[in-house]
Amino acid sequence: MGFNLTDYQPYDFANRRHIGPSPTEMDEMLATIGVDSLDALIDATVPAAIRQKAPLDFGAALSERDMLHKMRATADKNRVLVSLIGQGYYGTVTPPVIQRNILENPAWYTAYTPYQPEISQGRLEALLNFQTMVADLTGLEIANASLLDEATAAAEAMTMAQRVAKTKATGFFVDENCHPQTIEVIRTRAEPLGIDVQVGDPFANLAPDTLFGAIFQYPGTHGAVHDFSAQIEALHGAKAIAVVAADILALTLLKSPGAMGADIAVGTTQRFGVPVGFGGPHAAYMSTRDAYKRAMPGRIVGVSIDARGNRAYRLSLQTREQHIRREKATSNVCTAQALLAVMASMYAVFHGPDGLKAIAQRIHGDTVRLATGLEALGFTIAPEAFFDTITVEVGALQGVILRAAVAEGVNLRKIGSDRIGISLDERTMDVTIEAVLRAFGSSVAAGDLAPGLRLPEAMLREDDYLTHPIFHMNRAEAEMTRYMRRLADRDLALDRAMIPLGSCTMKLNATAEMIPVTWDAFSLIHPFVPEDQVAGYREVISDLSDKLCQITGYDAVSMQPNSGAQGEYAGLLAIRGYHMSRGDAARDVCLIPVSAHGTNPASAQMAGMKVVVVKSAENGDIDLADFREKAEAHADRLAACMITYPSTHGVFEETVTEVCSITHEFGGQVYIDGANMNAMVGLSRPGDIGGDVSHLNLHKTFCIPHGGGGPGMGPIGVKAHLAPFLPGEPRGSDAAVGPVSAAAFGSPSLLPISWAYCLMMGGDGLTQATRVAILNANYIAKRLEGAYDVLYKGPKGHVAHECIIDTRPLKDLAGVTVDDVAKRLIDCGFHAPTMSWPVAGTLMVEPTESEPKAELDRFCDAMLAIRAEADDIAEGRSDPDNNPLKNAPHTVEDLVGDWDRPYSREQACYPPGAFRVDKYWAPVNRVDNAYGDRNLVCSCPPLDAYQEAAE
Ligand SMILES: *Cc1c(COP(=O)(O)O)cnc(C)c1O
Repeated sequence: MGFNLTDYQPYDFANRRHIGPSPTEMDEMLATIGVDSLDALIDATVPAAIRQKAPLDFGAALSERDMLHKMRATADKNRVLVSLIGQGYYGTVTPPVIQRNILENPAWYTAYTPYQPEISQGRLEALLNFQTMVADLTGLEIANASLLDEATAAAEAMTMAQRVAKTKATGFFVDENCHPQTIEVIRTRAEPLGIDVQVGDPFANLAPDTLFGAIFQYPGTHGAVHDFSAQIEALHGAKAIAVVAADILALTLLKSPGAMGADIAVGTTQRFGVPVGFGGPHAAYMSTRDAYKRAMPGRIVGVSIDARGNRAYRLSLQTREQHIRREKATSNVCTAQALLAVMASMYAVFHGPDGLKAIAQRIHGDTVRLATGLEALGFTIAPEAFFDTITVEVGALQGVILRAAVAEGVNLRKIGSDRIGISLDERTMDVTIEAVLRAFGSSVAAGDLAPGLRLPEAMLREDDYLTHPIFHMNRAEAEMTRYMRRLADRDLALDRAMIPLGSCTMKLNATAEMIPVTWDAFSLIHPFVPEDQVAGYREVISDLSDKLCQITGYDAVSMQPNSGAQGEYAGLLAIRGYHMSRGDAARDVCLIPVSAHGTNPASAQMAGMKVVVVKSAENGDIDLADFREKAEAHADRLAACMITYPSTHGVFEETVTEVCSITHEFGGQVYIDGANMNAMVGLSRPGDIGGDVSHLNLHKTFCIPHGGGGPGMGPIGVKAHLAPFLPGEPRGSDAAVGPVSAAAFGSPSLLPISWAYCLMMGGDGLTQATRVAILNANYIAKRLEGAYDVLYKGPKGHVAHECIIDTRPLKDLAGVTVDDVAKRLIDCGFHAPTMSWPVAGTLMVEPTESEPKAELDRFCDAMLAIRAEADDIAEGRSDPDNNPLKNAPHTVEDLVGDWDRPYSREQACYPPGAFRVDKYWAPVNRVDNAYGDRNLVCSCPPLDAYQEAAE
């Protein structure tokens, strides 16, 4: 014996950190599948015709230390100044207890969207707190959790207003005091829908009869605080809908939108503890009246009961509505900003109403002191009454003062050529105020300036908010820490078990990739700082864009879309812009296969396109004959087709190039949904097989964690001819297509994660990840053979990176539904695979490359045991209604009290797959969804209601 280090691959090496199965395990798995080598499996799975010609050329993979070193050097090229630019983005203090226990805690950030409520009670409670917080502060009855950013929330509010308004008018009025990016995103959204946007002064230009709705903002982008009650009344007189954008922190002091009579309120919760991060991610909010709840976009958490009648939370109403309502869905919002909504809600729990009010009062007091100091210098300040934002008339001194401020380490807002805007925030200190005053030429000490009250008297808030006990915990950190820990423990995230969600690619989010996110040099940058302060960000964005171009075979990338669905929308707008530029305005038909993800038709509708559905053939492929027929029938109007590759059926369709050429033949453009890029990176490129544009889900393929339902990033890649039609600047530009997000690069503080992933994997590592993703999926398909049919396979009998497992025979055999299987998997310690999509009654399993063989085996053991339990029912050994499948999941409540079931507690709680000591216990039994929808409660119930439910 001696040391044999030759086989040892350090953890740091991409293949060992990121890729689950060890080399030995891979050999065992290949033997199980019955192929000789990974090369042979890949050759038999990925059609030669679509294989990528040259390997990815990214240079050598970096170790974790080298990556962090490079990242630090890059981050240091950003200059972190104090930004008092405002305009929707404000300094905030993330309480360290929230930073460490939520933002940096994989139990929170690796969770999936809470579609399976039994394993999501913790984050559902946090999101319910968010909704309660928003509903209270805005003075409206019901809030969602959450939207992508304030500008898109405003655009969503516009289309929602159009849905609910009882008038046929086509105008939408936009307060000129809305933030510029809000106005621009509304314009982009309105254009393809034929909405007539009128921007103006609500006190001078409002013409209610021409409108289905209007949006007003307070504080306005330049600080004005107005009461819009009269305007809202006038709108209501014309049966139009009133939307109000409001600053969530200002609402602790000011009359709420609800009190003014608003129908919808929107805004951002960024300043509730979420760093600005060069533009995102942060959670936007929307609230409305109870009467309009069914028209509200996004997700709404509601309260229901479980099988024992105990309180349980779950997503209500619109959950997955795109999959059901397709092009008639209220919006395409799928991935939103769950993690950031959780952070904001915890910030409110942490500070409580008194703390929030104190923060707002201090900011206002500081703003008054600053205004007093500037007035003493002879400057004119507007508006007269303000919250945190003032505008200073500076005339020709503008440039001098802005430069002096930067020299003092402060960014101020340039307004026109003769004014300067200043917004103070929670981070403002006396030294900040003094630095600003020095830039204006004063040397007064901040201590000599007295705070005062310059809020409009008539707008002071009188009603209570955040009265629920959850916002009145003891303020000790011990209690806060334990509350967050308790909620996290109720949930099943990637830090406990594999989450084999087909199409969602829940892969490793390596710790080293997460480290840079909270560095000041990335997190404290305001999105509208001068260009010379963001050289580091520019480098990340440009290198990552180059890499994504090489990976996809496209020529240009836009980082603006902040979710996959937003990418679809931006991509379709690019196609639309292209056709328009060629005088092809009539092209508005989009061919979409039936099996498409629900966001596809929803996005097409938003882009003003008509959806024509294409059939699937018997083998799951797109029905080529039907495709050609529909393309031909709509030849004059064909704008695009929207396909997914590999298909949502989990196979590499050989016919994809033909689908693309038919589309091109009839003048259409090809949109390839890139959500399945995890099956392609390094092996095949959408740009080579005929795509003109694709979005990538960086929160799937490129390791941004899912956050329990967001954040995400959905950049799009396009061929050169579409590059002129990428989204324009959020603050306005003469680009052919307007902006789709509030910030130019969407949620840029997430980009270091994907960049770190690419750097540490290198081209070979990324390609190997794809190969192993395909290996893992085929291993599962093989191990389940005999017990479950795999619905679709390629010509050589293999699946791509995911497979659809047919559970419908269990229904016929034993009355076991796909739901029963999903819930029983919880007892086994798993998150269910994607359920009933794209085929009802099936499970779509995507293990990803990051899962080791032991975890795949644990999953297969669980699935095989479930099959055996179904057989027990079918063959009369088990009661058809009272069995472990029907009663799943089991909880600790099933361990106490009488037990009158025909199977043992042991069998109930410890099926194959379940750990003994480390057993995951669902906190509730099966959740009754119908009850929740019948008795809709979407804010924290009073404490006595908790009591009732427990009785
Ligand atoms: C996830 C997904 C999307 C939507 O992405 P979001 O980021 O959730 O908006 C679109 N298409 C497919 C196939 C997907 O799997």
